[in-house]
Amino acid sequence: MMRIALPNKGRLAEGARELLERAGLEFEMRGERALQASLGGEFLALFVRAPDIPEFVADGAADVGITGRDLVVETGRDVVELLDLGFGRCRLVVAAREDSGIHSLAQVPEGARVATVFPRLTADFFRRAGRTITLVPISGAAEIAPHLGVADIIVDLVSTGSTLKTNGLHEVETVLDSTALLIVRDALLEDDVAARRIRELVAALESVLRAQNKRYLMANVRRDTLPEIRRILPGISGPTIIDLMNGHDLVAAHAVVDAAEVYRVIADLKAVGAEGILVTKIERLMP
Ligand code: AMP
Repeated sequence: MMRIALPNKGRLAEGARELLERAGLEFEMRGERALQASLGGEFLALFVRAPDIPEFVADGAADVGITGRDLVVETGRDVVELLDLGFGRCRLVVAAREDSGIHSLAQVPEGARVATVFPRLTADFFRRAGRTITLVPISGAAEIAPHLGVADIIVDLVSTGSTLKTNGLHEVETVLDSTALLIVRDALLEDDVAARRIRELVAALESVLRAQNKRYLMANVRRDTLPEIRRILPGISGPTIIDLMNGHDLVAAHAVVDAAEVYRVIADLKAVGAEGILVTKIERLMP
C-alpha cells in the first residue's frame, strides 16, 4: 500500500485531514493514539511531525506527503511539488522590535544577530540580499529573542500578525509565502503503477480545491427570459435548462457559479423575475 506522511498535529494536520476526507478518503484509525491509519483502503497514512515529512518522503520512508512549503524549502531535500493545497497559508518574515528603527532590509546592521527556527532559509535569504548576519538558531518562540537581548531581529512565521504585534515587533520584509503542498519523491514517478495512483490522488484533491470557490445555483425562470438567463449564468456551455412538471411557462436553470459572484448573480436573476432560487456548496468538481 502506498504510504502518505501527514502532519500529526496543528493547523496543517487539520487541513490535511479535512481535504482528504472531502476527496472521499476516509480515515480508519488503528487504536486511540494510532500513529498509522488506513486511508480509504488506498493509502497507509503515517502521522509524523510536519518538519520531518520532507525528509521521510525524500528517504523513502513515505511515498508522498503533505507539509508546509516553508518546511520543504528549509530541509533543502529534493522532492517534487505535485500540488499547492492552499491551506496553512502563512508568510516567513523578517521582523524587528518596534523601537529598533529597522523598517527595511537596508537598515539591518551588518552582522545583526537573527533568531530563527529556519536557519537554512534565513542564511540563504540574507546571502542573496548580500547581507552578513549572525545566525541564532532556536527551537521556537523566536518573538521573545529580541526582548531577551539574544538577537537583533528574527525570521518567523506570521499568519494574522497578532503574535508579532503582541510582542512589540513589526514586519520588515517577506522571506517566503507558504501553503501546504503535496510532495512526492522524484524517483517514484518513474514507476508506472505508482505514477498512476499519484495522478488519481492529485485529481481527487484538485477536484475538491476546484469546488471550494464554486457554488451550484438553481432557479426557476420564465422561458421568455432565457436569453437574459444565458447572459447572467454564462457557465462553460451555458446553464442546464430543465422542464418543470406543471411549470407552465417556468423552467429550471442550473449552473455552477463562482462563490464570489453569487450575490451579483442572485440580484440579476431576481431582476428578471426568477424565483425558487437555491444555492448549494459543491463537494467535488471534475471538468
Ligand atoms: P499569528 O499570530 O496569526 O501571526 O501566528 C503566528 C504564530 O503562529 C507564530 O508563532 C507562528 O510560528 C505560528 N504559525 C502561523 N502560521 C503557521 C503555519 N501555517 N504553520 C505553522 N505555524 C504557524
